[in-house]
Amino acid sequence: MLEGLYQEQMDYFAGQLRACRLCPRECGVNRLAGEVGYCGAGSSLRIASYCLHYGEEPPISGRHGSGTVFFAHCSMRCAYCQNYPISQLHHGNEVSIHDLARMMLDLEHRGAHNINLVTATHFLPMVVEAVLEARNEGLSIPIVYNTSGYERPETVRYLRGIIQIYLYDMRYWSNSTALKYSDAPDYPAFNHKALSEVIGTVGPGLSTRRGIATSGLIIRHLVLPSLLVETEAILRYIAEELPPQVHLSLMFQYFPANRATEFPEINRRLSQSERSCALSLLSQFGIRNGWVQEDELSSVPIT
Ligand code: SF4
Repeated sequence: MLEGLYQEQMDYFAGQLRACRLCPRECGVNRLAGEVGYCGAGSSLRIASYCLHYGEEPPISGRHGSGTVFFAHCSMRCAYCQNYPISQLHHGNEVSIHDLARMMLDLEHRGAHNINLVTATHFLPMVVEAVLEARNEGLSIPIVYNTSGYERPETVRYLRGIIQIYLYDMRYWSNSTALKYSDAPDYPAFNHKALSEVIGTVGPGLSTRRGIATSGLIIRHLVLPSLLVETEAILRYIAEELPPQVHLSLMFQYFPANRATEFPEINRRLSQSERSCALSLLSQFGIRNGWVQEDELSSVPIT
């Protein structure tokens, strides 16, 4: 049984429910006693949906899809969040750890290339148990941790061996922008420190077998309108500070949602000149590994 092998990690995550410091908010609430922190997650696992998803990067979605699980709640409050009914209005259904393990096995049975956990940070105590239960029952595909990048390095460290692939957002470069749009002024510092931990855990590159990812890291950056200065700083950091094996997914699919109407500068799609500018930054910084995503179903390799 795998539980023995991962006992220290399971103990660490179980303890978080009594004094939750899973994410950088470090609320310290006792979720088992009914207290609720910034994210709104309690002691029960809540899931909005699970399905085969074809809109991720080619090595993640492949031909048969990525087995994606969308968790309710979030530790970020992005003004433009496209999943805000799930993340901020908390839509979802309570399920057991055993139910989640069965969902993972069902997704593999339906052909999924991996299990893709979307914004699972606040439910890691239950998720880790479910992964181990599913592994004991024969789950053989990789686990993808699909994160906003607002993570504590310690949390990432305790996921060693449980997570094989990271889809890791780099959203903001400056504290003021992270505060304005996501109420997370410490996002850049945690984003960089946790990324170092990710690279130390799964390496900077992406391993594939027959075109499908088996382990590693993809960094994602969603280009926001009027914020090309942030994009430039992040791409420069990737080019100059990170190992050259890193893969980047540069995403152009932003559309205004949620409270974007309160911010006129992001209350529109990207202009053609902003797209061209972002593409020229890739060339300027010599970034060659990865993809550009125009929309959910159209990824082209960076050339
Ligand atoms: S996961 Fe939720 S309760 Fe825990 S520290 Fe983060 S915001 Fe607070």
